Amino acid sequence: MSITVQKISKDYGQQKALREISFSIEKGEIVGFLGPNGAGKSTLMKILTTYLKPTAGSAEVNGFSIDREQKKVQQSVGYLPENNPLYLEMYVREYLEFNAGIYKTDTARIPEVIESTGLGSEAHKRIGQLSKGYRQRVGLATALLHDPEVLILDEPTTGLDPNQLIEIRELIKSVGKNKTVLLSTHIMQEVEAICDRVIIISKGEIVLDKEIHALNAGKRQIVEVEFDYRVETVALENLDQVEKVENPSGFIYHIYFNTSEDMRGKVFDFAHDSGLKILQLHQKNTTLEKLFTELTTQR
Ligand code: ADP
Repeated sequence: MSITVQKISKDYGQQKALREISFSIEKGEIVGFLGPNGAGKSTLMKILTTYLKPTAGSAEVNGFSIDREQKKVQQSVGYLPENNPLYLEMYVREYLEFNAGIYKTDTARIPEVIESTGLGSEAHKRIGQLSKGYRQRVGLATALLHDPEVLILDEPTTGLDPNQLIEIRELIKSVGKNKTVLLSTHIMQEVEAICDRVIIISKGEIVLDKEIHALNAGKRQIVEVEFDYRVETVALENLDQVEKVENPSGFIYHIYFNTSEDMRGKVFDFAHDSGLKILQLHQKNTTLEKLFTELTTQR
């Protein structure tokens, strides 16, 4: 196991931030730690990186105890903290050299991490001149300097614009090919985009721990379509993998499919074959988001 957490609790005075959390992560997994703000994600990440001590419970990272083998845990973990604190006046390469010095890492790896995090074109600039997306790359490069087994990334895409978001997600997936990754987020789509597995945390407790493909297997989708004319609902019910059809108003139909595959093309073909025009067509994948909302709010 790459990470094993056993009954970890953390109290800040009266505030119970974590309540007997347990899970384990195998080598090579990319796991999304998902929960609303204040759920306890950062607290657990700080405990796993030995920045904080738990009130109770134990954990091992890369086989080393967070209590008794802190140095070895720190050598095994690359950590990107929330809000990624950087020295803005430093040059990228200088900042990486500075960090290599602090952590007594061989500077020979710097060109390699610059390359693997796509920083090549920006390496000669001051960090303050970089976009938020490139600053995150600098944070990731720093976390990768000592070639750790495990990466712990606290909200790595918060504040990024949509293009930067896609780039950083791709980068995490690519560096995660040879590492175990635990990343926190409050966005369900992020987990779907990057992770093999999701652990949902709410008010300091785990409320769901599942592989993404297992969640997708139970996924439903609703296609909302508006035709230019009335359709017999039974004709739509006869399409493949349809569970039910509703006709909420006029020529608008809600078609419930029991598959995660995009079925809009099938609805389009149906309209074409029936000589109908489509005025609107939307697809909604509801299950994962609904699950997240249900698990994290109705408690
Ligand atoms: P998340 O990362 O999921 O947003 P946190 O781990 O930051 O959640 O916080 C969990 C809970 O612990 C919150 O209620 C937060 O207010 C509280 N908390 C976090 N850090 C401290 C601290 N240093 N002192 C007191 N309470 C804290």
